[in-house]
Amino acid sequence: MKIDLSGKTALVTGSTSGIGYAIAKGLAASGANVFINGRNQDTVDVSVRKLDGVGGKVCGIAADVSTAGGCKALVAALPEVDILINNAGIFEPKGFFDIPDEDWTRFFEVNVMSGVRLSRAYLRSMMTRNWGRIIFISSESALNIPTEMIHYGMTKTAQLAVARGLAQIACGTGVTVNSVLPGPTMSEGVETFVKDLARQNGQSVDEAAANFVKQHRPSSLLQRFASVEEIANMVVYVASKEASATDGAALRAEGGIVSTIA
Ligand code: NAD
Repeated sequence: MKIDLSGKTALVTGSTSGIGYAIAKGLAASGANVFINGRNQDTVDVSVRKLDGVGGKVCGIAADVSTAGGCKALVAALPEVDILINNAGIFEPKGFFDIPDEDWTRFFEVNVMSGVRLSRAYLRSMMTRNWGRIIFISSESALNIPTEMIHYGMTKTAQLAVARGLAQIACGTGVTVNSVLPGPTMSEGVETFVKDLARQNGQSVDEAAANFVKQHRPSSLLQRFASVEEIANMVVYVASKEASATDGAALRAEGGIVSTIA
């Protein structure tokens, strides 16, 4: 199977680094014209330059997708897409009793409402053109709610509900809507978190990463952090024409942490 996304336009939110950047790179390498997004114009420009020549044309739009205004500006700059990857997301370990209302709202705005607003803007025209892909980057934390960040888990489960509902709206069309569930993945955001752990515990970064998996994700079959490319590979496949029978699904790329078979 050769994935060819030539002629398709893709938007990846939060794609100046981490999993989003790897997805943008993978889509561009498969021929798609890709729009990078981040909050800062300079950072967006750097990522666009880095992806120059990888494959399809790469452009960038700076916008904060956690706000209605940011999504509106993004859609004004890019009124139609064939592939929407709702990747932008934040996480922060914090005990339940320490999470204030503002954090619950902020997590919901960034992790859920960004995808809701952009899907509302793009899904209808995808259905009219009878082809489209919407993919939410959720997490295994959607299924195994992490005790150390229940607010994060809540947003990741919410994404599954939204994605499934949108797939049902697009029933019978060439538009599919799915979620991809990564497990611990060595993105820039997570690397910072692991470096902090290593410093706190007087360990090397590799030791801290291995310890994290052993202690906090003991059921992992992979027994290590995934690379951002391992997640992007799944996303690029789901975005392809070849994945036309995969719809309304929560697709795990989490190294077997979730111990149920289906
Ligand atoms: P990251 O922090 O490395 O990168 C996130 C990107 O999103 C950054 O470029 C950041 O600037 C951007 N971003 C954040 N808020 C934004 C906003 N309001 N508007 C526009 N851009 C914004 O994160 P990551 O680890 O690559 O995570 C990407 C997605 O994958 C998230 O939704 C996360 O929940 C999910 N995920 C990550 C892991 C992991 O271990 N890394 C595991 C499961 C799920």
